[in-house]
Amino acid sequence: MSSHATAADEGAGLDPRGRRRYSLEDTGFKEVPAKYRKFYRKWRGAGDSLAPNEVLCPTCKVVIRSQHEVRVGDRLYCMPCMSRGVVAETESGRLELKTLF
Ligand SMILES: [Zn+2]
Repeated sequence: MSSHATAADEGAGLDPRGRRRYSLEDTGFKEVPAKYRKFYRKWRGAGDSLAPNEVLCPTCKVVIRSQHEVRVGDRLYCMPCMSRGVVAETESGRLELKTLF
């Protein structure tokens, strides 16, 4: 699919929409099946911060991690609380999942 991409140029690591890609590792998050653990981690509270590929689920205080940069309006699924939602920016500038009903 992206055979034209070269690893050496500055755009390497961008997906087809021009977003940075992230490689995820297992975070030891035990609340979901092993194959999904890398997509979630526990929110550590006030001192914690979100990476550009992370969104906080305010319902269950879990950080949802994406394999690419996350932007407002993206649809995400929070498996631990089974919420579907869209990414929204809070007043403090943090990205959170806004649950859809
Ligand atoms: Zn959740």
